[in-house]
Amino acid sequence: VNNALMDEQLLFESALLLGMAVAPVIWWTGRKDAAPYGRHHTNSGAGSRAVKAENMIAWNLLTLPTRITWFLMECPCLFFMVPIFCMGRYANLKPPRILAALFLLHYVHRALVYPLRMRPSPKRNFPVIILISGVCFNIYNVYIQARSLSNFRSYPPTWLSSPQFVVGCMIFLFGMVTNVWADSILISLRKSSKGDAHSPASTSPTESSSKMYKIPMGGLFDLVTCPNYLGEIIEWLGWATATWSFAGLVFFVLTVCNLLPRALAHHQWYLINFPTIYPLKRKAIIPFIL
Ligand code: NDP
Repeated sequence: VNNALMDEQLLFESALLLGMAVAPVIWWTGRKDAAPYGRHHTNSGAGSRAVKAENMIAWNLLTLPTRITWFLMECPCLFFMVPIFCMGRYANLKPPRILAALFLLHYVHRALVYPLRMRPSPKRNFPVIILISGVCFNIYNVYIQARSLSNFRSYPPTWLSSPQFVVGCMIFLFGMVTNVWADSILISLRKSSKGDAHSPASTSPTESSSKMYKIPMGGLFDLVTCPNYLGEIIEWLGWATATWSFAGLVFFVLTVCNLLPRALAHHQWYLINFPTIYPLKRKAIIPFIL
């Protein structure tokens, strides 16, 4: 039993180091070419990924309906957190249980609520290649988070009143509210483009060449192009703080390396597709900075 525990500890620590090692690769890949889904899929207007004809056929053949794909991609975190967590030696303690509940709160929303609320383009499905990479990442991530919480990182009973936990939870919840709010605005834009009479007053009447996108306005959208990504990054910063763990830090770093380049690509896409009217003062993801 001891040998098996030692072996797993080695596996766990190697997985954490692997995550950190892969982070710059994810960053570099995202800067080179935005992952080909949504506006960066084929035929999504100027500035979208330029794909050769034969590749286009492959991408287009290997797709699935978007809502189902989001559910399949995110559900490992929802379904595997509890069983993996329960295998840990500290699984019956309150601090790791509350931290696991925070993680589940995010994934109940991401895997169940978000796919039901979203308004995917009727003309475009979701590439299976992104589904596969998303599932691999989520299986990896739920393993390191759950094992860290209930087995490899021990939390004293006083953890719930520690500054890391209290401040971390506040940051996490602020990030989640920002993320959900921003995604709701984007959802309402798509709704209004289908002729909803009660479209938000903040909506720009001008549509992009692909006729599926509008310029979001109001709140944080006046400062940055991607407040949903900013909220997501803040969330996992809060998670890394509240868990005060290497696993939490790995998740935060990977999220930054994934979403920051994508936000820059989104920003560029808006500048190309709304050349005269996109607000020039707006940054991509960090207000006033980037
Ligand atoms: P996007 O901002 O690209 O799109 C969100 C939704 O809104 C999509 O359905 C999109 O349609 C639609 N949309 C976006 N902009 C407009 C617009 N201007 N007008 C009309 N509709 C618009 O986000 P993602 O799809 O990349 O991500 C969705 C959520 O998942 C986000 O909350 C994000 O933070 C999270 N996420 C987290 C990751 C992580 O590493 N933790 C990784 C990726 C996503 P369409 O798809 O057709 O473009």
